[in-house]
Amino acid sequence: MKRNLIRETIKKAGKGVVLQGWVDSIRDHGKITFIDLRDRTGLVQCVGSDLPKVTSESVVEIVGEVVKRPEKLVNKNIPTGEIEISIEKLKIISKAGEIPLPLDTEGLDIDEEVRNKYRYLDLRRPRMAGNMRVRSQVTQFIRNYLHNEEFVEIETPILTKTTPEGARDFLVPSRLQQGKFYALPQSPQQYKQLLMVAGIEKYFQFARVFRDEDPRADRAYGEFTQLDVELSFVTQEDILDLSEKMFTSLVKEIFPEKKISEAPWPRISHKDAIEKYGSDKPDLRKDKNDKDELAFAWVLDFPLFTEQSKQDYFHGSGTSKWAPSHHMFTSPHPDDLALLDEDPSRVRGLQHDLVLNGLEVGGGSIRIHDPKIQSKIFDLIGFSKKQISQFDHMLEAFSYGVPPHGGIAPGLDRFLMAVLGEPSVREVMAFPTSSSGQTSVLNAPSEASDGQLKELGISVKK
Ligand code: ASP
Repeated sequence: MKRNLIRETIKKAGKGVVLQGWVDSIRDHGKITFIDLRDRTGLVQCVGSDLPKVTSESVVEIVGEVVKRPEKLVNKNIPTGEIEISIEKLKIISKAGEIPLPLDTEGLDIDEEVRNKYRYLDLRRPRMAGNMRVRSQVTQFIRNYLHNEEFVEIETPILTKTTPEGARDFLVPSRLQQGKFYALPQSPQQYKQLLMVAGIEKYFQFARVFRDEDPRADRAYGEFTQLDVELSFVTQEDILDLSEKMFTSLVKEIFPEKKISEAPWPRISHKDAIEKYGSDKPDLRKDKNDKDELAFAWVLDFPLFTEQSKQDYFHGSGTSKWAPSHHMFTSPHPDDLALLDEDPSRVRGLQHDLVLNGLEVGGGSIRIHDPKIQSKIFDLIGFSKKQISQFDHMLEAFSYGVPPHGGIAPGLDRFLMAVLGEPSVREVMAFPTSSSGQTSVLNAPSEASDGQLKELGISVKK
């Protein structure tokens, strides 16, 4: 017998159906029992008598007939509310034991560790299941959009070498070369620039990026996903224009109920943002209580450098006053080149930050493509010869014909969090790492065996 989906039942009054799914709820009225059955397409009420004993969240098969409900019993809250299933046979496929957390609420008040431990159950709640589907629609939309614009989707390595983006690296020990380590990428920054040297011209990927940051609500500790984009022969204007058009059509198609506050998106200089709003990611919503308002904005003209403070840039280079505001591949504003020698604090960078409802959703820049300027920046941020030598491959690559290029990397998790009005990026990730750094369900990190450590030439201090 072929399975019918719950959404098909609406049009099948008078017909027989075979449904398979989860028991969402049971109401036992003595002689007759109501079961709400759930599958990926919805919920339907089923009615029967003398049914086998079944528990909530069990997986069952229901064979029955679709019957129209009398007018006064129609349930307007669900799409299948005009019909119900008269159960002929109920088969228990897999019985569920007691469910360790409530699934009929939004779930936001449940302890995070519990939700993560049982994430496969937590994802059954409609809000979470909905978020997963929206996420998939968003990535699908972006893929199509960028392919239509002749972008090429390219994956870059996860086992790699550090590209400093200002956070701490996750390290992976090498077995073949004991004492050496890979770093998980904080971003594919160097690879995407090398792809421009390679002549790809238009690149993107949904890149998994890893940052060992102290966990905060809007940044996943551990890993998150960014839409990484790089283009050649472009100006900053081209990058802003592409991003603005893409996100505007995305919102129109996937979130038609949302209103973008202002178009074209406001552009604010970093200086004005700080002076006027006291923040470099101002929340420009006209009505902050309106959950359907999306206030996109660009913040531009960032200072190229910030003062290097307690936390020394790039693992304690610490020999200079200056650290890059964005990253060290960001181009200085061409009008400010002379200031690099005179007063670095006044040099503007060709950096752009994408802000949405007060969240920094992404950043990017036009890159340096002149090795002389790149060396000058290394100097100014106080890199030693040895530190510069870690980037020799970039300087060398740039000596073989490099197009002017630039890009952007909107965070997918952050964008979804902002658009869906979720309180944390974890609400839009299937298996997030908790705020204390434990992974969902599998509960990493865990200890390595003595044998594994021995192969790696590592001993752990107790
Ligand atoms: N690599 C940057 C980041 O991850 C984005 C960029 O400059 O394109 O924030």
